Order: sequence, then C-alpha cells, then structure tokens
Amino acid sequence: MRWEDVSGQERPVRLLRGALERGRVHHAYLLAGPEGVGKELLARTFAQAANCEVDDVCARPCGSCQSCRGIERGNFPDVSFLMPQTELLARGLVSRADLEGIPSKEIRVDDVRALARRLSFAALRGRRKIAIVTPADAMNERAQNTLLKTLEEPPAGTTFLLVSTNPDALLPTIRSRCARVQLGPLPEETLAARLRREGVAEGEARERAARAQGSFSRALAAQGEWREVLEQVEDALAAADEREALDLAEAYGDRDAALEVAEAVHAWTRDLLVSRSGGSPQLRELAGRAREVSERVPPHCLLGQAALCAEVIEALHQNGNGRLQLERLLLGTRELRHV
Ligand SMILES: [Zn+2]
Repeated sequence: MRWEDVSGQERPVRLLRGALERGRVHHAYLLAGPEGVGKELLARTFAQAANCEVDDVCARPCGSCQSCRGIERGNFPDVSFLMPQTELLARGLVSRADLEGIPSKEIRVDDVRALARRLSFAALRGRRKIAIVTPADAMNERAQNTLLKTLEEPPAGTTFLLVSTNPDALLPTIRSRCARVQLGPLPEETLAARLRREGVAEGEARERAARAQGSFSRALAAQGEWREVLEQVEDALAAADEREALDLAEAYGDRDAALEVAEAVHAWTRDLLVSRSGGSPQLRELAGRAREVSERVPPHCLLGQAALCAEVIEALHQNGNGRLQLERLLLGTRELRHV
C-alpha cells in the first residue's frame, strides 16, 4: 500500500504522513469515521510508512519490501492487531481449534494485557511498534481501563491506532489520550474509480457509487463479501477434515449472517450448474472458480446441494439456529461431495 491508495482521504493522510515526516508522532491516534471509508487501510499504510525498509525517512512506504509486505499480510512482528476473537475467525487469522470456549465478540482485558506484554519488548525488525485496535469500541470497559494504563505510560517507540466507527462508545479518558483523525465519507468519484479498478463496468460503477453513501465496503458488498465468503466455503468443502466448515458456521453463526451465507451459497450453486452446462455465471468475478468446481463435482451432487440450501434457508426463516443450520449446510454438502 502507498498513501495514494488511501484515496479520498487527503486530510487524514496529510496529518499522519506529516507527523512521520516531522518525526513528531503521537503515541495514540483515534481513526474515526463511517464504515468502509478506509480507516484500517490508513492504519496499515501508516504502519508500513513507519517501518518501510526502502524509505527510511518514514514518509513513503514502497509497498514491496519485506516489512511492507509482512504488514500487508498481517505477519510483521512489530505491528500487532488487537481484535475480537470473532473477527480473528472471520478473517481466517485463527482457527476454531486455537480458541477455548465460545469465541468472544468483545476485546477482553486478557487480550489487552497480552498486547501490553508484547509491546514491552524492544522492536524486533522495525523502527516503530504499532498496535492497531480494531474495532476499538469492541473493548469492554475493563479492557478499556487496562489499555488506558498503557496509554498513560506508553512503551517507547510505540504508536497505538484505535479504529472506530463509533468513537462515542469509548471512555472519554481513552478519547482524550488520543489525537483524533476524522475520516469522512468517500466522494462518489473516488468510489466509482475504485469499483472500475475492481473490474466493474463504467455504468454500474457509477450507479453503485451513487447508492453507497460514501462507503467503499457498501459499494463492494454485493460482490466482495460474497466472493470472500464463497471462497471460504469452497475451501472448507474441499478441506481434508471438518474443522474449517465448523469454524465458518461459528463465525457466521448469527441467524442473519447465516441466512446471508446460505443465500449466497444457493446463488453460487445455481452458478455452478449454469457453468457446468457451459453458460456464464452471475458472479462473474468467480467464474474461474465456478468452472473449476463444476468440472469436479457431478451434477447430481450440485442438485442435492441446491435442495439442501433451500431447506436450510427455509429453516432459518423459521427461526432456526444460525450456527447449527450452517453446519448442516456445510457438513451436508461435504458429504454429498465426498461419497
Ligand atoms: Zn517498504
């Protein structure tokens, strides 16, 4: 990532970049703004700019050195992410087997303590240790109070980046310790340009940008979310054991989320059948994967999968348990495919 990639947020970029250039970096920033406008992207780009191996003036990350790439992938030792377990699962950063008990939707006091311990050591590879807390409002009150102690006596060479769509949910004492960086909704033109880069046709890009209320994730939702979820579903179906399928069912276990996944899998199954008969699928960005899967899975399995989707969707409409119904869908489909 480069600063230019954080498009449509010139002021926040100038502020953070300027702080690095002048060597006057606060120990904590609160990156606030609506959903899908680039808060986390900005946080990661800042982390790269602070640690890029090529540009050690700290202002312009190259995006391709080992540090930049490590930060992009989320495995650079001096850049820590603090997020709820449900988020870790949803992003595939941990598997269900790594967690004890029910995955937490909150960032808990133990999570903050573990982070503070990691930050108490000197930087291993980079110049500046960065801790990205996302979403910061997922910290419960005890967690916030614990973080507050660290913010009051910050470890040397460390910057905290708190990302939040709802900064008012943070304790005033936390907010007052952070320099606020406010991100606004993205201009329609920026959204349309980014959709075009994702391969969306001109007319559709403009239309979606107009409906997205300044949010890139909303503009992308129709394709991006489905693409990611469906890729995860196919990976779980092809995996050697059931663990990934169970993780997915857990991560999307809320009934509304489960319903969306089941409906996406249903649409995807239709695409697989269409692709099998030589037609072109609706989810164009997954056409390659659709071809690959439909060549491998026989039509009677796909029909069975479609029927199972319909049953699960029906059950969810009737108040069925999200996690259990998704397990039924994923494990049932695995069985259909593996006989
Ligand atoms: Zn670099």
